[in-house]
Amino acid sequence: MKDTIYTIPVSEVFEPKEGCPLCRMRDTLEERCLEYIMGAAMMEPDVRQDTNRQGFCTDHFRMMLTRKNRLGLGLMLQSHLDYIRQEVVGAKAPILGKDKRLEKAREVDEGCYVCARIDWAMERMLDTILGLWQKEEAFRTLFSQQECICFPHYRLLAQKAQEKLPKKALPGFLEVAGGLTLGRLEALKGDVDRFCNLFDYRNAAPGPIPEEVRSSIERSISYLCARQIGDK
Ligand SMILES: [Zn+2]
Ligand SMILES: [Zn+2]
Repeated sequence: MKDTIYTIPVSEVFEPKEGCPLCRMRDTLEERCLEYIMGAAMMEPDVRQDTNRQGFCTDHFRMMLTRKNRLGLGLMLQSHLDYIRQEVVGAKAPILGKDKRLEKAREVDEGCYVCARIDWAMERMLDTILGLWQKEEAFRTLFSQQECICFPHYRLLAQKAQEKLPKKALPGFLEVAGGLTLGRLEALKGDVDRFCNLFDYRNAAPGPIPEEVRSSIERSISYLCARQIGDK
């Protein structure tokens, strides 16, 4: 397994200063993982063993379907279905020892190879980010210049910071990260308020709807789910 494909320079993620940097990091990791499993890794038995065992979530199956490699997906499904048949639903109950069939079924049902790889790589990148925060003034500046941090990634950062940062560094980090997520939340709330007010009967002729008001619903969902919804 080539772990190097999951290493992204932090500067590459934070330089664009557009949207949530952790969403950008996740998108890059996701893209690389999908590219890898549907390409170079197709013939690697250890990767195939993992995809057979873990399967994929609906989001990642959908993403694979949009790629022009139906045969690749077919081959992966072929051995994944075989695994489920032989090791899970079609497996005989053991005469002695623990019955692992339900455990295996849960892993297939709840697991996802792509999600697991992304989570693993994100953990390592978060460690790097918090390390840089402590060591480099320039990185603290770059971090504070981000446009926003979405809600799930704020939670992830805050949780990781609680575990990893020394006590004296924690409040400063939480204040900056919290400010970036709160700034976006307040702007969205303002736009959603304006959207809802359009339907107030006292606003009989509201005139043209500004773009930021029209898109406030999709953008709020994106902020809450760490996923791009709609066009913007
Ligand atoms: Zn995010
Ligand atoms: Zn997934």
